[in-house]
Amino acid sequence: MEPRQSQEPQKPQEPNLPPAKLFIGGEWSAPQGGKTFTTENPATEETLCEVASGSPADVDRAVEAAQAAFTGDWRKTSARDRGRILWNIADALEARIDEFALVETLDNGKPIFESRYVDVPAGIAALRYYAGWADKIHGDTFPVEGPFLFAYTLREPMGVVGAITPWNFPIIQALWKIAAALACGNTVIHKPASYTPLTALKFAELAVEAGLPAGALNVVTGGGSAVGGSMVSHPGIAKISFTGSTEVGQGIMRQAADTVKRVTLELGGKSPNIVFADGDVDAAVKGAYNGIFYGKGEVCAAGSRLFVERKIHDEMLEKLIARTERLRPGDPLHPKTRMGALVSSSQRDTVMSYVEIGKKEGAEVVTGGTLADVGGKGYFMNPTILSGVDNAMRVAQEEIFGPVLVVIPFDEPEEAVALANASIYGLAAGVWTRDIGKAHRIAAQLQAGTVWINQYNWYDSGAPFGGFKQSGFGRELGRQALEYYTETKTVFVGK
Ligand code: NAD
Repeated sequence: MEPRQSQEPQKPQEPNLPPAKLFIGGEWSAPQGGKTFTTENPATEETLCEVASGSPADVDRAVEAAQAAFTGDWRKTSARDRGRILWNIADALEARIDEFALVETLDNGKPIFESRYVDVPAGIAALRYYAGWADKIHGDTFPVEGPFLFAYTLREPMGVVGAITPWNFPIIQALWKIAAALACGNTVIHKPASYTPLTALKFAELAVEAGLPAGALNVVTGGGSAVGGSMVSHPGIAKISFTGSTEVGQGIMRQAADTVKRVTLELGGKSPNIVFADGDVDAAVKGAYNGIFYGKGEVCAAGSRLFVERKIHDEMLEKLIARTERLRPGDPLHPKTRMGALVSSSQRDTVMSYVEIGKKEGAEVVTGGTLADVGGKGYFMNPTILSGVDNAMRVAQEEIFGPVLVVIPFDEPEEAVALANASIYGLAAGVWTRDIGKAHRIAAQLQAGTVWINQYNWYDSGAPFGGFKQSGFGRELGRQALEYYTETKTVFVGK
């Protein structure tokens, strides 16, 4: 994702943090057992605040509240009014955009520039996009044989949707799910990631203040299996919309079988970015750089495997290294910072361990590969490029989820496609060429849910996003997402 505006944000004031409570039935509610955990600022390693640690009993309470809203106030709200409420929520969030951006940056470590000009605006855009859909979700009539006057379909909400989200784009991932689910008439229980739960809690309160009926959106923070696992096995939840790692997604798919729960999974990636010699090399350098280093590389669709046609490999690598060496991690609150802190010490250790794995496999660290010193604290790492990489190496096959790019040369277009597709993942891909026919041919052959031609990392509320292969199934965003939050009912009408 690239920022769409160029103004610099002002350094904001004291953060407005939520209480150490769950948000159930339209109000703050202490977790049963009273346990809490802490969330920290990864740029300073300081504790930000305590967060409620929910239990299976809290999930039960949230399901009760969400079911009551589903059969009560939210059910009674007309489709047009659902749209109006979503629009009001978007306006309310926009009015507090700086406040939300600050909390997102403090919790995640991403630059304030990204939170303020990409993440929160993208959440607002999703709310408005689905506000527009709310009164346009309808069935069909069609000719049928037999003793019927006619037949028709209804598109009905599923019931209570469980939304489980990761830490890399907390407010975006939450609002992509919540906006679509609510527009269709469902109610929601949201479990945010434990590293970054704060904007989810704040958003639920804001939504109710902006007119969402109590119980239509509930937030239960806490552990992956205690809260997330309880949601997946809960018979009162109709559908789980999950974004996270492929490993956890596989477990959710297995667990969901017991209740034949509807599931959509947005999982990991190891996306190829293919640069042909007939492309605009300077544009491709910028695209490859943004593709991997935007969001600290903690991006599911990061262009983490760069395939470069051999003829321009050395030129491209040299330019890419020069650009990368100008990117220095810094204080996420500084308006000019473009790379912040990795989300946690454990994420930093995982990413750094892949640099060592790459070296042992024979890759060369051509830039980075080291921790960055930003005032002596925080989980900062320098942007890293590994060359001399073979596509079979672990660093080319496993999701690193950090600012580490592997560069692999190729000779022929068929070879590039074969290498790109030689992955368990299929989330996204990039193609750089001035030959429009070739661009379309390659896009058609790539096993990826999104293909970017002559750009990378662009998203839009109207454009469906999701994976092929082990990157998951189902789609977020666009008209397509509505399919995953509704059931189709067929009605035959006799004479
Ligand atoms: P994760 O899978 O560890 O956790 C995701 C969420 O699932 C968290 O809220 C976590 O608490 C919860 N969870 C953990 N165990 C659970 C269980 N047993 N049952 C139910 N819920 C459980 O992922 P993460 O580390 O937070 O995020 C990084 C991963 O997310 C990466 O693999 C990345 O590619 C992926 N991701 C995918 C997309 C996409 O759209 N495809 C977008 C963003 C991130």
